[in-house]
Amino acid sequence: MSDTLLEVKGLATEFKHGKKNWISAVSDVSFEVRPGEIVGLVGESGCGKSVTSLSVMRLHRKDTTRISGDIIFEGKHLLELSDRDMQAIRGNEISMIFQEPMSALDPIMRIGDQLAEALTLHTDLSKKEVHERSVEVLRQVGIPEPEMTLRNYPHELSGGMCQRVMIAMAMSCEPRLLIADEPTTALDVTIQAQILALMEKIRRENNTGILLITHDLGVVAETCSRVIVMYAGHVVEEAPVDELFKHPQHPYTQGLIASVPRLGERLRRLPSIPGSVPDLAAMPDGCRFAPRCRYAQERCRCNDPVLHEVSPDHTSACLLSEQEREEVAHA
Ligand code: SF4
Repeated sequence: MSDTLLEVKGLATEFKHGKKNWISAVSDVSFEVRPGEIVGLVGESGCGKSVTSLSVMRLHRKDTTRISGDIIFEGKHLLELSDRDMQAIRGNEISMIFQEPMSALDPIMRIGDQLAEALTLHTDLSKKEVHERSVEVLRQVGIPEPEMTLRNYPHELSGGMCQRVMIAMAMSCEPRLLIADEPTTALDVTIQAQILALMEKIRRENNTGILLITHDLGVVAETCSRVIVMYAGHVVEEAPVDELFKHPQHPYTQGLIASVPRLGERLRRLPSIPGSVPDLAAMPDGCRFAPRCRYAQERCRCNDPVLHEVSPDHTSACLLSEQEREEVAHA
């Protein structure tokens, strides 16, 4: 039996643009998530991370979105399932947590009713068992007085508490896969550390596979075992986390890593990647990173780089070898 939980192969997502045109948001995206591992999906805003995760969940609007490729979850081809079958998987076998818990929780429903709704939809538990399970999951995510919290409305809780409730809701049906989209971005650093520790606990105790979407490489270094780097709708590099930080190959990844402050380093101006992510409707030809790349050559502007292995388990999509980039840097 395959040990892959989620396999995404050649995913392409397009959005309707005007009356007749479609523009590509992500294309040729492939990756895997195995049980019990946390995979980081990183890149700046607008690189296609959230489009990818919403495509896996089939949460894009059908009338304005076209999705192709293969999304295989525990042997099931998600793009081929009926809406009803997909609904049964969503929130049950695959759960998602979002950056803004306040916008995902219903402001006029008590926490207890929201948890009960998710549990009743996906399980056969009795009313008493739903209550017991709700208390249990709130306790698991470190909420000190779960019975009282069940009676609260979202606005009566802090941002960190709301995020814990969201994670509790996501975990209540014991999903095999958790997709966390910037789960700590809106939180202060102390709460951020607690939420990351909580995700690690969930992974360890339930063997849950986690796809962690973030622009924060500090979060990735702390939590993930593998990292996928996206730029302008493409995967540009993938490697185990230690390898990626020690030997980043793609110039975009190198730029992202160089812009992260290091502990103990003297205060200095951190280099940032010049320019910004290109607009979906105006993607440059050839390598999409070329307008921002210090190594760009003429051939980079006419040829699309594809992922290739640079060392075992490590792939990168740059047309130049490490040596060629060094020669350009010293020219
Ligand atoms: Fe830079 Fe060229 Fe590599 Fe693209 S293919 S990242 S432009 S060196």
